[in-house]
Amino acid sequence: MSKNTEVREFIGKVLGLVEKESVTKEDAAWITAQTIEGFRENVNPGFLEYRKTVTEDQGFAAVEWSDGGNGFKDVNGNTYIDCLGGYGIYNVGHRHPKVVKAVKDQLQHQALHSQDLLDPLRAMLAKALAAIVPGDLKYSFFTNSGTESIEAALKIAKLYAYKHNPVASTFIATVGAFHGKSLGSLAGTARGAFRKPFMSLLQGFRHVLYGDIDMMRKTFEACAAVGENVAGVILEPIQGEGGIILPPKGYLKAVRELCDEYGAVLIFDEVQTGMGRAGSMFACEIEGVVPDIMCLAKAFGGGVMPIGATIASEKVFAPMFDNPFMHTTTFGGNPLACAAALATIDVLLEENLPARAAEVGEYFLKGLKEAAKGHEDLVMEIRGQGLMIGIEFHKDEVGYEASKGIFEKGIVVAGTLVNSKTIRIEPPLTITYEEVDYVLKSFKEVLENLKK
Ligand SMILES: *Cc1c(COP(=O)(O)O)cnc(C)c1O
Repeated sequence: MSKNTEVREFIGKVLGLVEKESVTKEDAAWITAQTIEGFRENVNPGFLEYRKTVTEDQGFAAVEWSDGGNGFKDVNGNTYIDCLGGYGIYNVGHRHPKVVKAVKDQLQHQALHSQDLLDPLRAMLAKALAAIVPGDLKYSFFTNSGTESIEAALKIAKLYAYKHNPVASTFIATVGAFHGKSLGSLAGTARGAFRKPFMSLLQGFRHVLYGDIDMMRKTFEACAAVGENVAGVILEPIQGEGGIILPPKGYLKAVRELCDEYGAVLIFDEVQTGMGRAGSMFACEIEGVVPDIMCLAKAFGGGVMPIGATIASEKVFAPMFDNPFMHTTTFGGNPLACAAALATIDVLLEENLPARAAEVGEYFLKGLKEAAKGHEDLVMEIRGQGLMIGIEFHKDEVGYEASKGIFEKGIVVAGTLVNSKTIRIEPPLTITYEEVDYVLKSFKEVLENLKK
Protein backbone atom coordinates (compact mmCIF):
# COMPACT_ATOMS: atom_id res chain seq x y z
CA MET A 1 0.00 0.00 0.00
CA SER A 2 1.37 3.38 -0.90
CA LYS A 3 2.00 6.00 1.71
CA ASN A 4 -0.54 8.29 0.07
CA THR A 5 -3.26 5.66 0.35
CA GLU A 6 -2.58 5.30 4.06
CA VAL A 7 -2.63 9.03 4.65
CA ARG A 8 -5.88 9.33 2.74
CA GLU A 9 -7.46 6.53 4.73
CA PHE A 10 -6.41 8.23 7.97
CA ILE A 11 -7.73 11.61 6.86
CA GLY A 12 -10.95 9.99 5.71
CA LYS A 13 -11.49 8.53 9.15
CA VAL A 14 -10.75 11.86 10.86
CA LEU A 15 -13.07 13.84 8.60
CA GLY A 16 -15.72 11.19 9.13
CA LEU A 17 -15.50 11.79 12.87
CA VAL A 18 -15.59 15.56 12.44
CA GLU A 19 -18.74 15.13 10.38
CA LYS A 20 -20.50 13.04 13.04
CA GLU A 21 -22.94 14.69 15.38
CA SER A 22 -21.66 12.66 18.31
CA VAL A 23 -18.96 10.07 18.79
CA THR A 24 -19.30 6.51 20.12
CA LYS A 25 -17.26 5.02 22.92
CA GLU A 26 -15.15 3.27 20.33
CA ASP A 27 -14.57 6.52 18.47
CA ALA A 28 -13.59 8.20 21.73
CA ALA A 29 -10.97 5.55 22.46
CA TRP A 30 -9.52 5.92 18.94
CA ILE A 31 -9.50 9.73 19.17
CA THR A 32 -7.76 9.62 22.56
CA ALA A 33 -5.12 7.15 21.39
CA GLN A 34 -4.45 9.09 18.18
CA THR A 35 -4.29 12.40 20.03
CA ILE A 36 -1.75 11.13 22.54
CA GLU A 37 0.34 9.48 19.82
CA GLY A 38 0.18 12.58 17.63
CA PHE A 39 1.26 14.85 20.47
CA ARG A 40 4.07 12.49 21.43
CA GLU A 41 5.41 11.87 17.94
CA ASN A 42 4.48 14.90 15.89
CA VAL A 43 3.44 17.88 18.03
CA ASN A 44 5.53 18.08 21.16
CA PRO A 45 5.72 15.42 23.87
CA GLY A 46 6.29 18.19 26.39
CA PHE A 47 2.59 19.02 26.29
CA LEU A 48 1.65 15.53 27.51
CA GLU A 49 3.98 15.86 30.47
CA TYR A 50 2.64 19.32 31.22
CA ARG A 51 -1.06 18.51 30.89
CA LYS A 52 -0.99 15.17 32.64
CA THR A 53 -0.62 16.81 36.01
CA VAL A 54 -4.11 18.23 35.89
CA THR A 55 -5.87 14.89 35.62
CA GLU A 56 -7.34 12.90 38.44
CA ASP A 57 -5.53 9.62 37.85
CA GLN A 58 -2.32 11.24 36.62
CA GLY A 59 -3.30 9.87 33.22
CA PHE A 60 -3.30 12.19 30.27
CA ALA A 61 -5.50 15.21 30.21
CA ALA A 62 -8.97 14.95 28.83
CA VAL A 63 -9.29 15.26 25.07
CA GLU A 64 -11.79 17.94 24.16
CA TRP A 65 -14.28 17.45 21.39
CA SER A 66 -17.10 19.96 21.56
CA ASP A 67 -18.14 23.19 23.23
CA GLY A 68 -21.25 25.23 23.75
CA GLY A 69 -22.88 27.52 26.31
CA ASN A 70 -20.33 28.19 29.02
CA GLY A 71 -18.16 25.13 28.73
CA PHE A 72 -16.59 22.14 27.04
CA LYS A 73 -17.27 18.46 26.58
CA ASP A 74 -14.51 15.88 26.28
CA VAL A 75 -14.64 12.87 23.96
CA ASN A 76 -16.03 10.75 26.78
CA GLY A 77 -18.93 13.12 27.30
CA ASN A 78 -17.70 14.72 30.53
CA THR A 79 -18.65 18.38 30.76
CA TYR A 80 -16.54 21.22 32.15
CA ILE A 81 -17.51 24.69 33.23
CA ASP A 82 -15.10 27.05 31.51
CA CYS A 83 -13.47 29.39 34.00
CA LEU A 84 -10.42 29.91 31.83
CA GLY A 85 -12.29 31.14 28.81
CA GLY A 86 -9.50 29.94 26.52
CA TYR A 87 -7.27 32.58 28.18
CA GLY A 88 -10.04 35.10 27.62
CA ILE A 89 -11.48 34.33 24.19
CA TYR A 90 -14.98 33.19 25.07
CA ASN A 91 -16.52 36.48 26.21
CA VAL A 92 -19.79 35.87 24.35
CA GLY A 93 -19.87 32.21 25.38
CA HIS A 94 -19.00 29.15 23.33
CA ARG A 95 -20.21 29.07 19.73
CA HIS A 96 -22.78 31.80 20.24
CA PRO A 97 -25.51 31.13 17.65
CA LYS A 98 -25.32 34.64 16.24
CA VAL A 99 -21.57 34.44 15.68
CA VAL A 100 -21.78 30.94 14.21
CA LYS A 101 -24.60 32.04 11.90
CA ALA A 102 -22.66 35.06 10.65
CA VAL A 103 -19.65 32.90 9.79
CA LYS A 104 -21.81 30.22 8.13
CA ASP A 105 -23.71 32.83 6.14
CA GLN A 106 -20.48 34.44 4.96
CA LEU A 107 -19.08 31.03 4.06
CA GLN A 108 -22.03 30.53 1.73
CA HIS A 109 -20.72 33.19 -0.63
CA GLN A 110 -17.04 33.89 0.11
CA ALA A 111 -14.48 32.61 2.62
CA LEU A 112 -11.31 34.58 1.97
CA HIS A 113 -10.70 37.77 0.05
CA SER A 114 -9.12 38.27 -3.39
CA GLN A 115 -6.39 40.58 -2.02
CA ASP A 116 -7.06 42.84 -5.02
CA LEU A 117 -10.68 43.96 -5.15
CA LEU A 118 -11.96 45.94 -2.16
CA ASP A 119 -13.26 43.59 0.54
CA PRO A 120 -16.41 45.11 2.04
CA LEU A 121 -16.53 43.47 5.46
CA ARG A 122 -13.14 44.91 6.38
CA ALA A 123 -14.53 48.41 5.85
CA MET A 124 -17.73 47.65 7.71
CA LEU A 125 -15.98 46.08 10.70
CA ALA A 126 -13.56 49.02 10.88
CA LYS A 127 -16.54 51.38 10.95
CA ALA A 128 -18.34 49.42 13.67
CA LEU A 129 -15.17 49.18 15.75
CA ALA A 130 -14.45 52.89 15.43
CA ALA A 131 -17.97 53.52 16.75
CA ILE A 132 -17.44 51.58 19.99
CA VAL A 133 -13.84 52.44 20.92
CA PRO A 134 -13.16 55.47 23.11
CA GLY A 135 -11.90 58.86 21.95
CA ASP A 136 -10.51 59.47 18.50
CA LEU A 137 -9.33 55.92 17.70
CA LYS A 138 -10.36 55.56 14.09
CA TYR A 139 -8.24 53.50 11.66
CA SER A 140 -8.02 49.72 12.00
CA PHE A 141 -5.46 47.23 10.81
CA PHE A 142 -6.79 43.68 11.21
CA THR A 143 -4.61 40.74 12.21
CA ASN A 144 -4.93 37.07 13.10
CA SER A 145 -3.74 37.18 16.70
CA GLY A 146 -2.83 39.33 19.66
CA THR A 147 0.85 39.00 18.92
CA GLU A 148 0.32 40.33 15.42
CA SER A 149 -1.76 43.21 16.78
CA ILE A 150 1.20 44.14 18.99
CA GLU A 151 3.69 43.84 16.12
CA ALA A 152 1.52 46.15 14.05
CA ALA A 153 1.24 48.63 16.93
CA LEU A 154 5.02 48.75 17.42
CA LYS A 155 5.57 49.31 13.71
CA ILE A 156 2.90 52.01 13.48
CA ALA A 157 4.46 53.74 16.50
CA LYS A 158 7.90 53.50 14.92
CA LEU A 159 6.66 54.82 11.60
CA TYR A 160 4.99 57.73 13.37
CA ALA A 161 8.21 58.45 15.28
CA TYR A 162 10.20 58.23 12.04
CA LYS A 163 8.10 61.09 10.67
CA HIS A 164 7.46 63.19 13.76
CA ASN A 165 9.97 62.36 16.49
CA PRO A 166 13.07 61.22 14.57
CA VAL A 167 15.43 58.64 15.95
CA ALA A 168 12.91 57.71 18.62
CA SER A 169 13.58 54.01 18.92
CA THR A 170 13.02 53.43 22.62
CA PHE A 171 9.92 51.73 23.99
CA ILE A 172 8.96 51.65 27.62
CA ALA A 173 7.16 48.47 28.72
CA THR A 174 6.34 47.12 32.15
CA VAL A 175 7.54 44.33 34.41
CA GLY A 176 4.95 41.54 34.47
CA ALA A 177 3.75 42.41 30.95
CA PHE A 178 2.60 39.89 28.40
CA HIS A 179 2.39 41.04 24.79
CA GLY A 180 3.10 37.85 22.88
CA LYS A 181 6.10 35.74 21.92
CA SER A 182 7.22 36.85 18.46
CA LEU A 183 10.61 38.56 18.49
CA GLY A 184 9.04 42.02 18.45
CA SER A 185 6.24 41.45 20.93
CA LEU A 186 8.53 39.37 23.16
CA ALA A 187 10.71 42.44 23.56
CA GLY A 188 7.76 43.92 25.46
CA THR A 189 6.82 40.72 27.30
CA ALA A 190 8.53 40.58 30.66
CA ARG A 191 9.14 36.99 31.72
CA GLY A 192 12.85 36.21 31.75
CA ALA A 193 12.40 32.50 31.05
CA PHE A 194 10.56 33.23 27.80
CA ARG A 195 13.07 35.88 26.66
CA LYS A 196 16.55 34.86 27.69
CA PRO A 197 17.39 32.31 24.96
CA PHE A 198 16.23 34.68 22.24
CA MET A 199 18.29 37.75 23.07
CA SER A 200 18.77 40.12 21.58
CA LEU A 201 15.21 40.96 20.76
CA LEU A 202 13.88 44.12 19.16
CA GLN A 203 16.32 46.71 20.48
CA GLY A 204 15.41 49.66 22.63
CA PHE A 205 13.02 48.23 25.20
CA ARG A 206 13.21 49.36 28.79
CA HIS A 207 10.99 47.82 31.45
CA VAL A 208 9.67 49.75 34.43
CA LEU A 209 7.66 48.47 37.39
CA TYR A 210 3.95 48.33 36.55
CA GLY A 211 1.97 50.90 38.46
CA ASP A 212 5.06 52.88 39.51
CA ILE A 213 4.58 56.28 37.91
CA ASP A 214 7.74 57.73 39.49
CA MET A 215 9.85 55.08 37.83
CA MET A 216 8.11 55.74 34.53
CA ARG A 217 8.78 59.48 34.86
CA LYS A 218 12.41 58.95 35.82
CA THR A 219 12.87 56.63 32.86
CA PHE A 220 11.51 59.28 30.51
CA GLU A 221 13.87 61.79 32.13
CA ALA A 222 16.84 59.43 31.89
CA CYS A 223 16.08 58.69 28.24
CA ALA A 224 15.88 62.39 27.47
CA ALA A 225 19.15 63.01 29.33
CA VAL A 226 21.02 60.46 27.23
CA GLY A 227 19.45 61.51 23.94
CA GLU A 228 17.05 58.59 23.51
CA ASN A 229 13.66 59.72 22.29
CA VAL A 230 10.85 57.47 23.45
CA ALA A 231 8.75 56.21 20.53
CA GLY A 232 6.11 54.67 22.72
CA VAL A 233 4.88 53.23 25.97
CA ILE A 234 3.15 49.88 25.82
CA LEU A 235 1.13 48.43 28.66
CA GLU A 236 -2.00 46.51 29.59
CA PRO A 237 -4.67 48.55 31.43
CA ILE A 238 -4.92 45.49 33.71
CA GLN A 239 -2.08 42.98 33.49
CA GLY A 240 -3.43 39.55 32.57
CA GLU A 241 -0.59 37.05 32.42
CA GLY A 242 1.31 39.03 35.03
CA GLY A 243 -1.26 37.69 37.50
CA ILE A 244 -4.32 39.95 37.09
CA ILE A 245 -2.64 43.10 38.36
CA LEU A 246 -4.76 46.25 38.66
CA PRO A 247 -2.84 49.53 38.40
CA PRO A 248 -3.21 52.12 41.15
CA LYS A 249 -5.95 54.66 40.56
CA GLY A 250 -4.81 57.50 38.33
CA TYR A 251 -1.83 55.57 36.92
CA LEU A 252 -3.10 55.26 33.35
CA LYS A 253 -3.94 58.95 33.27
CA ALA A 254 -0.50 59.90 34.56
CA VAL A 255 1.14 57.69 31.91
CA ARG A 256 -0.99 59.43 29.27
CA GLU A 257 0.29 62.80 30.50
CA LEU A 258 3.92 61.69 30.38
CA CYS A 259 3.47 60.42 26.82
CA ASP A 260 1.97 63.75 25.81
CA GLU A 261 4.78 65.66 27.49
CA TYR A 262 7.48 63.68 25.66
CA GLY A 263 5.69 63.09 22.35
CA ALA A 264 5.56 59.33 22.83
CA VAL A 265 2.78 57.16 21.45
CA LEU A 266 0.67 55.41 24.09
CA ILE A 267 -0.23 51.83 23.19
CA PHE A 268 -2.78 49.95 25.27
CA ASP A 269 -2.71 46.20 24.89
CA GLU A 270 -6.39 45.31 25.40
CA VAL A 271 -5.98 41.89 23.83
CA GLN A 272 -7.22 40.31 27.06
CA THR A 273 -9.04 43.15 28.80
CA GLY A 274 -11.04 44.27 25.76
CA MET A 275 -14.50 43.26 24.55
CA GLY A 276 -16.19 43.60 27.94
CA ARG A 277 -13.92 41.39 30.04
CA ALA A 278 -13.16 43.93 32.77
CA GLY A 279 -16.71 45.26 33.12
CA SER A 280 -16.68 47.91 30.41
CA MET A 281 -16.22 47.42 26.67
CA PHE A 282 -12.55 48.39 27.05
CA ALA A 283 -10.67 48.50 30.34
CA CYS A 284 -9.16 51.93 29.61
CA GLU A 285 -12.67 53.41 29.73
CA ILE A 286 -12.89 52.69 33.44
CA GLU A 287 -10.38 55.49 34.03
CA GLY A 288 -11.42 57.46 30.97
CA VAL A 289 -7.98 57.34 29.38
CA VAL A 290 -7.64 57.12 25.59
CA PRO A 291 -4.49 55.62 24.05
CA ASP A 292 -3.10 56.49 20.61
CA ILE A 293 -3.15 52.84 19.60
CA MET A 294 -5.21 50.00 21.02
CA CYS A 295 -4.59 46.31 20.37
CA LEU A 296 -7.34 43.73 20.36
CA ALA A 297 -7.62 39.99 19.64
CA LYS A 298 -8.70 37.01 21.80
CA ALA A 299 -12.45 37.60 22.34
CA PHE A 300 -12.75 39.87 19.28
CA GLY A 301 -13.70 36.93 17.03
CA GLY A 302 -16.36 35.70 19.45
CA GLY A 303 -14.50 32.50 20.27
CA VAL A 304 -15.30 31.28 16.78
CA MET A 305 -12.74 32.88 14.47
CA PRO A 306 -9.23 34.17 15.15
CA ILE A 307 -9.01 37.90 14.52
CA GLY A 308 -7.17 40.82 16.07
CA ALA A 309 -7.16 44.54 15.48
CA THR A 310 -4.75 47.43 15.90
CA ILE A 311 -6.75 50.62 15.97
CA ALA A 312 -5.10 54.04 16.02
CA SER A 313 -5.98 57.72 15.96
CA GLU A 314 -5.72 59.45 12.59
CA LYS A 315 -2.71 61.42 13.77
CA VAL A 316 -0.70 58.31 14.58
CA PHE A 317 -2.01 56.13 11.76
CA ALA A 318 -1.62 58.74 8.98
CA PRO A 319 1.99 57.80 8.04
CA MET A 320 0.53 54.47 6.87
CA PHE A 321 -1.63 56.26 4.27
CA ASP A 322 1.27 56.98 1.90
CA ASN A 323 2.04 53.34 1.44
CA PRO A 324 -0.51 50.94 2.92
CA PHE A 325 1.87 48.09 2.08
CA MET A 326 4.30 49.15 4.81
CA HIS A 327 2.70 46.51 6.98
CA THR A 328 0.47 43.76 5.60
CA THR A 329 -0.88 40.29 6.27
CA THR A 330 -2.53 37.84 3.87
CA PHE A 331 -5.23 36.50 6.14
CA GLY A 332 -5.75 39.39 8.57
CA GLY A 333 -9.25 40.81 8.32
CA ASN A 334 -10.54 38.07 6.04
CA PRO A 335 -14.31 37.98 5.43
CA LEU A 336 -15.02 35.02 7.72
CA ALA A 337 -13.14 36.62 10.60
CA CYS A 338 -14.75 40.03 10.01
CA ALA A 339 -18.21 38.45 9.97
CA ALA A 340 -17.45 36.81 13.32
CA ALA A 341 -16.16 40.07 14.83
CA LEU A 342 -19.17 42.05 13.61
CA ALA A 343 -21.54 39.51 15.18
CA THR A 344 -19.47 39.52 18.37
CA ILE A 345 -19.78 43.29 18.75
CA ASP A 346 -23.50 42.95 18.16
CA VAL A 347 -23.88 40.25 20.83
CA LEU A 348 -21.82 42.21 23.37
CA LEU A 349 -24.10 45.21 22.86
CA GLU A 350 -27.40 43.33 22.57
CA GLU A 351 -26.82 41.25 25.70
CA ASN A 352 -25.18 44.13 27.52
CA LEU A 353 -22.30 41.82 28.39
CA PRO A 354 -19.76 44.40 29.62
CA ALA A 355 -22.21 45.51 32.34
CA ARG A 356 -23.01 41.87 33.06
CA ALA A 357 -19.28 41.20 33.52
CA ALA A 358 -19.14 44.01 36.08
CA GLU A 359 -22.16 42.68 37.98
CA VAL A 360 -21.37 38.96 37.95
CA GLY A 361 -17.70 39.75 38.50
CA GLU A 362 -18.46 41.61 41.71
CA TYR A 363 -20.57 38.69 42.98
CA PHE A 364 -17.87 36.20 41.97
CA LEU A 365 -15.04 38.16 43.60
CA LYS A 366 -16.97 38.59 46.83
CA GLY A 367 -17.86 34.88 46.89
CA LEU A 368 -14.26 33.80 46.30
CA LYS A 369 -13.04 36.05 49.11
CA GLU A 370 -15.63 34.59 51.45
CA ALA A 371 -14.71 31.04 50.43
CA ALA A 372 -11.05 31.79 51.19
CA LYS A 373 -11.78 33.07 54.70
CA GLY A 374 -9.80 31.05 57.22
CA HIS A 375 -7.38 29.92 54.50
CA GLU A 376 -5.04 32.89 54.64
CA ASP A 377 -2.18 30.43 55.06
CA LEU A 378 -2.84 29.20 51.50
CA VAL A 379 -4.36 32.16 49.69
CA MET A 380 -2.42 35.40 49.62
CA GLU A 381 -4.84 37.63 47.73
CA ILE A 382 -7.90 37.52 45.51
CA ARG A 383 -8.35 40.49 43.21
CA GLY A 384 -9.91 41.48 39.94
CA GLN A 385 -12.20 43.65 37.96
CA GLY A 386 -15.22 42.43 36.05
CA LEU A 387 -14.76 38.80 35.07
CA MET A 388 -10.99 39.03 35.15
CA ILE A 389 -10.12 37.61 38.53
CA GLY A 390 -6.86 36.29 39.95
CA ILE A 391 -6.36 34.08 42.98
CA GLU A 392 -2.80 34.40 44.23
CA PHE A 393 -1.45 31.65 46.47
CA HIS A 394 1.63 31.92 48.67
CA LYS A 395 3.38 29.17 46.74
CA ASP A 396 3.38 27.85 43.17
CA GLU A 397 2.71 24.32 44.39
CA VAL A 398 -0.43 25.33 46.24
CA GLY A 399 -1.78 27.08 43.16
CA TYR A 400 -1.00 23.98 41.17
CA GLU A 401 -2.76 21.66 43.61
CA ALA A 402 -5.74 23.99 43.76
CA SER A 403 -6.05 24.04 39.94
CA LYS A 404 -5.92 20.28 39.92
CA GLY A 405 -8.59 19.99 42.59
CA ILE A 406 -10.85 22.43 40.79
CA PHE A 407 -10.37 20.56 37.49
CA GLU A 408 -11.43 17.33 39.18
CA LYS A 409 -14.72 19.03 39.94
CA GLY A 410 -15.28 19.68 36.26
CA ILE A 411 -14.08 23.27 36.12
CA VAL A 412 -11.32 24.46 33.81
CA VAL A 413 -8.96 27.05 35.29
CA ALA A 414 -5.26 27.75 34.69
CA GLY A 415 -2.31 29.69 35.95
CA THR A 416 -1.14 32.94 34.41
CA LEU A 417 1.86 32.76 32.06
CA VAL A 418 4.13 35.24 33.78
CA ASN A 419 3.14 34.65 37.41
CA SER A 420 2.60 30.98 38.24
CA LYS A 421 1.42 31.58 41.81
CA THR A 422 -1.77 33.08 40.45
CA ILE A 423 -4.66 31.22 38.89
CA ARG A 424 -7.10 33.12 36.79
CA ILE A 425 -10.86 33.06 36.64
CA GLU A 426 -11.95 34.30 33.22
CA PRO A 427 -15.24 32.62 32.33
CA PRO A 428 -17.52 33.59 29.47
CA LEU A 429 -19.32 36.83 30.38
CA THR A 430 -22.50 34.79 29.97
CA ILE A 431 -21.71 32.50 32.92
CA THR A 432 -24.85 31.91 35.00
CA TYR A 433 -25.17 32.59 38.71
CA GLU A 434 -25.82 28.84 39.24
CA GLU A 435 -22.51 28.06 37.56
CA VAL A 436 -20.74 30.70 39.65
CA ASP A 437 -22.25 29.21 42.82
CA TYR A 438 -21.01 25.76 41.83
CA VAL A 439 -17.50 27.13 41.25
CA LEU A 440 -17.56 28.90 44.63
CA LYS A 441 -18.69 25.76 46.44
CA SER A 442 -16.01 23.72 44.66
CA PHE A 443 -13.29 26.25 45.45
CA LYS A 444 -14.22 26.15 49.12
CA GLU A 445 -14.08 22.35 49.18
CA VAL A 446 -10.74 22.30 47.40
CA LEU A 447 -9.23 24.71 49.94
CA GLU A 448 -10.55 22.60 52.80
CA ASN A 449 -9.02 19.48 51.21
CA LEU A 450 -5.70 21.23 50.72
CA LYS A 451 -5.60 21.97 54.42
CA LYS A 452 -5.81 18.29 55.32
C1 LIG B 1 -2.80 36.66 24.85
C2 LIG B 1 -2.22 37.99 24.86
C3 LIG B 1 -1.40 38.44 23.80
C4 LIG B 1 -1.00 37.54 22.67
O1 LIG B 1 -2.11 37.15 21.91
P1 LIG B 1 -2.02 35.86 20.96
O2 LIG B 1 -3.35 35.84 20.27
O3 LIG B 1 -1.77 34.68 21.83
O4 LIG B 1 -0.91 36.09 20.00
C5 LIG B 1 -0.95 39.73 23.84
N1 LIG B 1 -1.26 40.55 24.86
C6 LIG B 1 -2.05 40.16 25.87
C7 LIG B 1 -2.39 41.13 26.95
C8 LIG B 1 -2.54 38.87 25.92
O5 LIG B 1 -3.28 38.48 26.95
